[in-house]
Amino acid sequence: MKTISKEVVNRLKDKLKNTSNILILSHYHPDGDAVGAVLSMSRFFGKMGYEVSAVLPDSSPVYLEWMKGVEDILIFEKEPELIESKFSEADLIFALDFNDPSRLKGMEKWYERLGAMKVVIDHHPEPKKFSDIIISDTSASSACELLYEFMKSVGGTGIIDREIATALFVGIMTDTGCFSFNSSDPGTYIRVAELLGYGINKDEIFNLVYDNYSDDRMRLLGYVLKEKMEVIPEYNTAFISLTMDELEKYSFVMGDTEGFVNYPLSIKGIRFSALFIEKPDHVKISFRSKGAFPTNLFSKKHFNGGGHLNASGGELYSNMEETLRLFRSLLPKYAKELK
Ligand code: 5GP
Ligand code: MN
Repeated sequence: MKTISKEVVNRLKDKLKNTSNILILSHYHPDGDAVGAVLSMSRFFGKMGYEVSAVLPDSSPVYLEWMKGVEDILIFEKEPELIESKFSEADLIFALDFNDPSRLKGMEKWYERLGAMKVVIDHHPEPKKFSDIIISDTSASSACELLYEFMKSVGGTGIIDREIATALFVGIMTDTGCFSFNSSDPGTYIRVAELLGYGINKDEIFNLVYDNYSDDRMRLLGYVLKEKMEVIPEYNTAFISLTMDELEKYSFVMGDTEGFVNYPLSIKGIRFSALFIEKPDHVKISFRSKGAFPTNLFSKKHFNGGGHLNASGGELYSNMEETLRLFRSLLPKYAKELK
C-alpha cells in the first residue's frame, strides 16, 4: 500500500481548521468495509469536535447491526429530506469505499451540486473524477486499511480507540474474506497488529460477523446449494439465482445472501462465479473469480457494474430469465479467458 502524500495531508489539515460540519458517505448495499469506514470516520471526527453526519443510501446488513453507532447512520431511503439538509450544511465531505458517484443511488444530485470540499478515499480500480481530493490506492486491501493510514497522518493516533479500531478491523477482515484474498501485503498485517494493540477482540468480531445468522439463512444456503446452483464445467463457471418468492419463503433480511457467491468457487476447476438476485424491477448481480479473469470489466461491459478484478457487481433492468439467458450466452465468448 502507498503512503498518503504530505501535500494531500496538509491540504486536508488546512481545510479542517475551517470546518465545522462533516458529511461521511459510502455506497449502496453497504458491506463491512463501507459500514466500518463510515463508523470509524464518524467517531474519529466526532472525537475531534466536529459535527458529523454519517449517511448511507440504504440500510446496513443485519450481520453488522451489532456495530456501535450503526443506528445513528442516516439512511437516504428512509429520510431523504433530512439528508438533503445535511448535504447543504456540510463544509467537508468524505466519500468512502466507492469509485463512482452513481453508487450513491439517488444522492449524487446533491453530491454533485455541493460547494463543499469533497474527498474520496477508496481502493477500487479506475476511480471517476468526482472529488477535490482523491486518495485512491488499488493495492489497499480495503478502504478501512487506507483510513487507518489516513487517521494516523492527520494526527489521530491519540484519537483512535478500541471502537474505531474495531470498525476498521471489520472492514479489513470482510474485504479480504478473513485474509484469504487481497491481503498479501505484509503492511496489512502490521496495520492489523497495531489495531489489535487498541484492545479489539478479534475472535468476538469474527463471531459477531460470521456466526450470527438466523436458521432461515442457513436453510436458504442449503436450498441454494442443492437446488439453485448451476455448474458449467466447460467454462469453469458456476452460478446461483434467487427469486423474490424464494427469498421471502426463507424470511430474507438484508445481508442474508452475503457470501453465497463465494461457495461455487470451492468446486474444483470453478474459477468464475455469479449470484443473481431478483429485485422488483431489476436483477442485482455479484461476480467473483479466481486468477486473472477480470469480473469488473465483464460486469462493466455487460451488466452496468464494476468493482475489483476478482470481486465485482452489477445490475440489469430486466427479468431473471432474460438476465440468465444473457449471462449464459456470453460465456462462450470468454471461454479462453476462463480456462
Ligand atoms: P458485492 O458482490 O459484494 O455486492 O460487491 C463486490 C464488489 O463490487 C464491491 O467492491 C462493490 O463495491 C462492487 N459492486 C457491487 N455492485 C456494483 C455495481 O452495481 N456497480 C459497481 N460499479 N460496483 C459494484
Ligand atoms: Mn471495500
